[in-house]
Amino acid sequence: MKALVEGVEVDVRHWIDGKRVGSATTFSSISPIDEQKIADIAAGGESEIDQAVTAAQAAFQSWKKTSPAERAAYLHKIADIVEARVEALAVVETRDNGSLLRSHRRGVMPRVAMNFRFFADWLTQLDHPDFDVRGHRNHISYDPSGVAGIITPWNAPLMLGTWRIAPALAAGCTVVYKPPEWAPLTASLLADITAEAGLPAGVFNVVQGMGREAGAALSRHPKVRRLSFTGSVPTARTIAAAAAPNLVPLSFELGGKSPFIVFADCDFDLAVNTAIGQYDNAGQVCLAGTRILVEESIRDKFQEAFIAKAKNIRQGDPRDEASDIGPQISRAHFERVSGFVDRAKGAGMKPLIGGGPNEDLGGLYFRPTLFADPTPGSEILRDEVFGPVLCLQSFKDEAQAIAMANDTEYGLAAVVMTGDPARAERVTGAVNAGLVWNNCFFVRDLRQAFGGNGKSGIGREGGTWSFDFYCDVKNSVYAPHGWSQVGGKV
Ligand code: NAD
Repeated sequence: MKALVEGVEVDVRHWIDGKRVGSATTFSSISPIDEQKIADIAAGGESEIDQAVTAAQAAFQSWKKTSPAERAAYLHKIADIVEARVEALAVVETRDNGSLLRSHRRGVMPRVAMNFRFFADWLTQLDHPDFDVRGHRNHISYDPSGVAGIITPWNAPLMLGTWRIAPALAAGCTVVYKPPEWAPLTASLLADITAEAGLPAGVFNVVQGMGREAGAALSRHPKVRRLSFTGSVPTARTIAAAAAPNLVPLSFELGGKSPFIVFADCDFDLAVNTAIGQYDNAGQVCLAGTRILVEESIRDKFQEAFIAKAKNIRQGDPRDEASDIGPQISRAHFERVSGFVDRAKGAGMKPLIGGGPNEDLGGLYFRPTLFADPTPGSEILRDEVFGPVLCLQSFKDEAQAIAMANDTEYGLAAVVMTGDPARAERVTGAVNAGLVWNNCFFVRDLRQAFGGNGKSGIGREGGTWSFDFYCDVKNSVYAPHGWSQVGGKV
């Protein structure tokens, strides 16, 4: 059961215990580029998830005993193959999720390889100092916890999936991965890659399917010891409820409505260009600064320059190197984005640009949209649209900027544009966000913690934080005078 996608063969079955496994039912993968069907994919549910978790649990017995160096070698091998296959992965991902081919080629797929390399290297250096307690050696070890269930979304499918899969495997967990049903194909290619890298059967498993079936079955499976989820707040609530009876530790990376704060003392051109970048990936970026807050004294100038630049955004087929942004992921998502914009317009708010479909392109292309001064408390200002829709507001002073920035239930990211280093420090300290960029955007170091506050998530991943999550951290104490000594005598 293989589909030919942009000249690349993709197996459309699950990957369970080192074998391809089909299902009685399938779902269709539709390309956002032209709404044509690309493939019918096996639709897993309770039974496939149970097979995969059982295989993962069996494989865990030997995988957990491998040394860090052995696991690191497997992960580097996977990274080597990903690097050799960047072009195939990039063309399939673009066809499947509609993100820019040039980004997949130059940024996203190299980052997929980097996810594996980084956690392989971090694993071998993972250390915590021993402490001496009255001559007793007090030691910390990172014990793999068991089967990790991983569920991720479609906006950067392979990058977000491997950001969770790589540390889980590095930590010595085995994995059952449920890819997004709107962009499932590169997960299947990843399964081939892990097999070629010689990963033992059952260590990495992929079960394709709908969230409410395969995802739900994985979330409630009693043998899953860690649940790692990237996606929306409503789904996070469902998963947390399903996992509650099993008391499984959760790592959630969720949505955002991040502030993009522009002070009058900023580098103006940098601020405008960085603000335009918030339309990247057609607005389907969790970290995007969708609430642009501009100091009153430069508001008109900023708005004018922003609109002039936004009009030059080239929207088109994501396979075309000249395109800046592509379509929305699916008809359902396009309708959702349109719904937000239509309701805002219905409530009297007028978009300064965009505000509807790109009729020249048709299909799922939605025009970059900007609402100025939306009604306070309105849906468009409060909720995550996850499309190319930004809001612009102005503030009088720093205190008001901070108050407006924090007027949200989310707390994923924030961008601060200022020429004053002291202000940058003050505002960074005051905004409620897991990640704050000063005079830049999207610069990441995988050693650092990544995650959100409030409704934007639970926990942090990256560097040692990932191992804290996937491992059972053990504190052991060794007495100084040999094994016969009974505790309490010293
Ligand atoms: P979603 O919550 O609808 O789906 C995400 C995944 O959950 C999919 O694989 C889906 O099949 C699965 N799922 C759906 N219902 C389920 C259920 N009942 N039980 C178990 N699994 C279920 O989100 P989406 O629309 O795919 O993605 C967009 C969201 O993801 C946005 O809110 C965005 O901000 C967020 N996101 C966050 C980050 C981050 O790092 N914080 C990164 C990317 C995207």
